[in-house]
Amino acid sequence: MSEQNLRCILAERPTGWVEPRHFRMERVPVPEPGDGEVLVRNHWLSLDPYMRGRMSDAKSYADPVAVGAVMIGGTAGEVVASRDPRFKPGDAVVGMLGWQLYGVAEASTLRKVDTRHVPLAAYLGVVGMPGVTAWYGLNAICAPKAGETLVVTAAAGAVGGVVAQRAKAKGCRVVGVAGGAEKCRYVVQELGIDACVDYKAGDLATELKAALPQGADCLFENVGGEIFDALLARTNAFGRIALCGLISDYNAADPYRLKNLRMVLINRLNIRGFIVSDHADQWPAALQELARLVATGRLKYRESIAQGLDHAPEAFIGLLRGRNFGKQLVKLV
Ligand code: NDP
Repeated sequence: MSEQNLRCILAERPTGWVEPRHFRMERVPVPEPGDGEVLVRNHWLSLDPYMRGRMSDAKSYADPVAVGAVMIGGTAGEVVASRDPRFKPGDAVVGMLGWQLYGVAEASTLRKVDTRHVPLAAYLGVVGMPGVTAWYGLNAICAPKAGETLVVTAAAGAVGGVVAQRAKAKGCRVVGVAGGAEKCRYVVQELGIDACVDYKAGDLATELKAALPQGADCLFENVGGEIFDALLARTNAFGRIALCGLISDYNAADPYRLKNLRMVLINRLNIRGFIVSDHADQWPAALQELARLVATGRLKYRESIAQGLDHAPEAFIGLLRGRNFGKQLVKLV
């Protein structure tokens, strides 16, 4: 094949904030699939906060990306060549082929997707890992009942937007927390959520108190730090917290220390961290429901799209700084 593969390599491990110099672009020949393998031309790359953890070799739930290796990442694309009977050229597939234009994968790691009613890119967001994350944390951990109040942080984001809409559909009063007036307007006006607190404006504790006059029965936590701390003070007795992410700490040299931890005790809170990849058994049902909701217009979402793999590092840094608005993707074709 004459076309070259372009890939983005982890050049150096960051300490603190990620910078462009931590990545390196590389041109190499397009790989050939072996027996049982499939060659995919990636059309979309998903950028996700977990990638910051994989750039570090600190202890975590998954191994780090090796320095000199292709950055890990979810991808959606088209089969170019297949040496497995389950796939043929032209099939639309999602997989974990990383930050590159072409990738070879074992057939068993790819999933064929139907793009007639759900756009290919949505399989990396609302009908993909972030959507399942929202679905699992909401249903299995928050388990809100109609009439309860649920608060979700990073509410305009890929996970948060799904949590907010599904909690609303379950009959909850839903309050979002997001950075900036435009994101809050989107959460309330476009997603139909009851209220949204802009943590960048004014006094967070006072604004949360006003937005949560009856307190919060459920918290879907994506951010951590001061926001989480302030929300702990607004929880109700026997509240449930799905601890999904702590993005405000991912680049911090000195992680935030909670001042309101005692609320866990005095409110007898049930707080549970989770990693969506541990719950493979739940994915098929979640994906089926999410696809149906998107196809019928009952689940809205928004995307931030960077054009071309060269712009992936900058877009990833933007995601960690909150410059994305909805699911952050890179368009590769
Ligand atoms: P988003 O689309 O929500 O993008 C990240 C958002 O986080 C930014 O847009 C920004 O929104 C917010 N943010 C970034 N830095 C800060 C900060 N310092 N303080 C407050 N907010 C900040 O990303 P995802 O929906 O993909 O992920 C959301 C969270 O869910 C992350 O913490 C992620 O790690 C976690 N996650 C966990 C999974 C699991 O299995 N446990 C799986 C998938 C995601 P704003 O401008 O509103 O601040």
